[in-house]
This record gives sequence, structure tokens and C-alpha cells, in this order.
Amino acid sequence: MTEQTFDAIIIGAGISGMYQLHQLRGLGMSVQVLEAGDGVGGTWYWNRYPGARFDSESYSYGYSFSEEILDEWQWSEHFSAQPETLRYCNFVADKLDLRRDIRFDSTVTRARWDSEAERWTVWTADGWTGSAQFLITAIGPLSVPTMPTIDGIDDFRGQSMHTARWPHEPVDFKGKRVAVIGTGATGVQTIQEVAKTAGQLTVFQRRPNWCAPLKNSPITPEQQQDIRARYPEIFEICKRSHGCFMHDADPRRAMGVSAEEREAFYEELYDAPGFGIWMGNFRDIFVSEEANQTISDFVAAKIRQRVKDPKVADMLIPKDHGFGTRRVPLETNYYEVYNQDNVRLVNLQDTPIERVTPTGIRTSAELLEFDIIIYATGFDAVTGGFSKIAFEGVDGQTLQQKWAEGPLTYLGLMVPGFPNMLTLVGPHNAASFCNIPRCIEQNVEWATDFIRNMREKGLATAEADEAAATEWTHHVHESAEKMLYTKVDSWFMGINTNVEGKNKRTFLLYAAGAPAYRAKCDEVAASDYAGIARH
Ligand code: NAP
Repeated sequence: MTEQTFDAIIIGAGISGMYQLHQLRGLGMSVQVLEAGDGVGGTWYWNRYPGARFDSESYSYGYSFSEEILDEWQWSEHFSAQPETLRYCNFVADKLDLRRDIRFDSTVTRARWDSEAERWTVWTADGWTGSAQFLITAIGPLSVPTMPTIDGIDDFRGQSMHTARWPHEPVDFKGKRVAVIGTGATGVQTIQEVAKTAGQLTVFQRRPNWCAPLKNSPITPEQQQDIRARYPEIFEICKRSHGCFMHDADPRRAMGVSAEEREAFYEELYDAPGFGIWMGNFRDIFVSEEANQTISDFVAAKIRQRVKDPKVADMLIPKDHGFGTRRVPLETNYYEVYNQDNVRLVNLQDTPIERVTPTGIRTSAELLEFDIIIYATGFDAVTGGFSKIAFEGVDGQTLQQKWAEGPLTYLGLMVPGFPNMLTLVGPHNAASFCNIPRCIEQNVEWATDFIRNMREKGLATAEADEAAATEWTHHVHESAEKMLYTKVDSWFMGINTNVEGKNKRTFLLYAAGAPAYRAKCDEVAASDYAGIARH
């Protein structure tokens, strides 16, 4: 195939790739998007598992940049389910006529910077090659699913799937013996749904998470009218809050109020929809062990109330980390599932899985037979998408080499040694801790202004300075130092037991919050892109 040339190549047609394409078209650029799937939507294209839905209020999640899209689209629930969100992504792609610049079924395998031509060359698995002045990664922080490193997975003769590679046809659980491995946000959503119809459901839990009620409900026509009228206000609330959610930390400290007041506030949060209990809680629960203990005790008591068997309740209460120090899965009757006769919880800390057999799963205690095994075992988070592609920068240095000791970035958007490459939602970027489309819009708009400025000035290349990136990376780590979640193993901290080498804690997100991040990005732009060498 002959090489095609573009002004920009974007990898990924999810929420960020779609908006970036639209923005760069606005600059009159020729753009090629390369997408591994056969449709748009990214995370919402791949994660079709039963129960997949928003944990953000639907109306705070959609794109805010187009009044037409806001006026024409209607969410049906306060926390809409995956099929609706995928329809939304397709609606936006149609509305903005995006598909003509997206090449589907195109898995990028390699991208090489050519210092002489001052361009990136990009290769896909099916033999396509193209080059462009700018390379934009829109590959998502949770796009590379990881299977557990358990012997015998391929021997299983029943149906098995990872939640993020769910079949496009419905899977029928009626009367079936189903296993779910994993109890993160995905596992929790899957379990509460599968338990409705499965003949027998066995949940294999390694470490429990602190879950809290989602409190979903349909959006009534009156509410819809009100939402439409309040969109500017909704997006302003998101913009001001730490994680761009409708919820922001309460200015009080848990230890600064009486026990009665604290308890009443926790009750209120537990009863309210969405992430309020995590994002809208007392501000010290993330930094003070003492404050954190109060909310952990509160949620533990709720679990004990909701789960009838005290032994099972105890298994479901985390002992190794406090509430909110890992991602809080939101749930609908998740704990009640364990009161059902058809559901059993296996604690892998007592009886680890030894292997998968042709007919089921053998733990250290027993052999259990299954028709279906579901792996809700998570992702090679944040850096995984970058490891999958052979990025070669200046002098042939690979990104793997550059990041051997952990990611080094400037604003989470650029990497020294990799000129003209912008990493939307990359490591050290506020987006992964965010109501993601809100931070995606900021990332994309910053990248677009950056490219516009270069084009206006007739500049060919831009590369983050090593010193500026070192300072930013230091700031990222410093911003998280006091946070309790840095003391806990999770994907926030770059830990994944199923990925070789992902065993040293390194903070992959940005802890100082989206407003501070936005201010820093704006400051860099206002200072004629300080910290970035351009010519
Ligand atoms: P995850 O949080 O990483 O959870 C993976 C689960 O699999 C954990 O319970 C883990 O146990 C278990 N596991 C992994 N390897 C295992 C092994 N070898 N043996 C036994 N158990 C194993 O992944 P996730 O649930 O897919 O969620 C990832 C992120 O996606 C979330 O944190 C969230 O940001 C996002 N998400 C968002 C939504 C939403 O917005 N609605 C929904 C789902 C997911 P350990 O805890 O012991 O490691």
C-alpha cells in the first residue's frame, strides 16, 4: 500500500478522538483517524457487558461544545446504560459527519518520528501506512483489557469472555452456571445484572471494594426540560469542581463536626444519587486516616445491614484500604445479590484459583463447574495503550525506554523526545480522575489551540523540554503525596498483578484537580508555550 499523507493522524475514535477530529477539521486540516473497532465510541463500543452504565449523571457527561447536540439529544435515565451511550456516540458521529475521516478495523502497531521530514509515520496491523505532521493519541486510559495470569484459561470448553471484549450478540444466562472473576466497578455492574437470571452465579473475589448506591432513575419529561434550560449551569458546576462532576468536596472536615452531624451527612450522601458520597464528601477523608475511618465504618455498617449472612458481609468489607482510596463502584442492589439462593461468594484470599479446567475453575478447596466464565479483571490502565504501540521518537528512542522508570510527561499531554505528539487523556493528565468528557474537552481544545498557534506562526515542530517535563512529573507526584490512595495498590498507582513489570507504585493520574490542571495548561499557553521548544 502506498503511504498517505495528512496534517494530523489521530489514534482512536472514542469520545476524545471524535472531538479532536471535529476541532482539527475546523482548522482546515486534513485528518485521518485510525480506530481498532468497527464503530465509534471507544469505551462504549467495547464495554458491552450486562449492566454497563454511567456513574456520572448522564447530562453532565455528553459533549458541551455544541448547542445543537445538546438540544437534539435526550438521555432517558439519570445514569444511562451503555447501549444508549453508544447510540449517542453514533448520533454525534452522524451529526458531525465524522465517519468519512475514520478508518475502522485499523489497529495501530507502530509510529515513528522522522527528524528530517519532521513528520510521524504510522503503521496499522492490516498494512496501511500514513504520515502526518501531528500525531494525536486518543487511545483511552482503560482500553487494554487484562486477563488474569491463571493456568488453563484456554482449556475451558464453555463460553468465556472479558467484560471489555463482550460479544456483540446478547448472552443468555438463564439457568446457566456462571462465574465472575473480579469485583471492581465493572464486576459489580456485571454481577448485579447476571444474578437476575443465572441459574447459579459464583463470584470470585480477591479483594472487596467499597461500593455505594447509584440511585438511578428515569428522566421525566419535566426533568428533561429543566436539564435543557440548565445546561450552562450544569457545565459550570462541573468546571468548578475537582473532578468535573456535579459533586464537589464539602468544605467542612469530618473531624471538625460532631459525630451526629457527620452521621447525618453520611446518611444523606448514601441516600443521594451518584458520586456525592465519594466526590462530595468531607474534604479530609482522602488525607486523614482518622477522618477516613469514620466513613469506612459508616459504609461497613451499611454492608452489614444489607447482607443477611454476617460471614458473607464480612467478606465484602474491605480491610486493606479505606473508603474512596480506590475507585468506588456504584451499585444497584449489589449487596442484596448475596442474599439470593443462586449466588455464592468465593474468597480467593482463603482459597485461591489454582487453574481453569475444561469444565470449570479449580480453587485450592474444590472444583466448580461452569457454563460461562466472565473475566471482569480490569485493564492495563493509563499506560497500557501506549505499550501496545511501538512509538519511536527522536534518534529511534522508544517510549518504553523513555518510560522505563515510569511516565515522564509535560502536562500529561507531551513527552520529551516525541515531538508533535499530543497524548490526550495521557498519564499525569487530569482526565483519568475526571468526569472524562469534561476533561477531554479541555485536553482537545488545548491541543487544538496549540496546533493552531503553530500553524499561524509557520512552525514545523514542537517538543517538550526534558527539564519542564521533569518538573511537571515531580509536581504530579507531589500533588498526590498526602493522598491516602497513594498507600494502596490500584490502577491509579500503576499496579496490575497481571501485567509484567506493573508492580511498583507510581501515580499515573493528577491529584490537584481539574481546575488547577486547566489553570496550569492555560498558563503555559499564555506564556507562548513555555517549556516547549518550537521551531
Ligand atoms: P479493576 O477496578 O481493575 O478491577 C479488576 C478486578 O479484577 C479486581 O477486583 C481485581 O482484584 C480482580 N482481578 C484482577 N486480576 C485477578 C486475578 N488474577 N485473580 C483474581 N481476581 C483478579 O477493573 P474494572 O472493574 O474493569 O474497572 C476499571 C475502571 O474502569 C474503574 O476503576 C473505573 O474507572 C472504570 N469503570 C467505569 C465505569 C463507569 O463509569 N460506569 C464502570 C466500570 C468501570 P484486586 O482488587 O484484588 O486486584
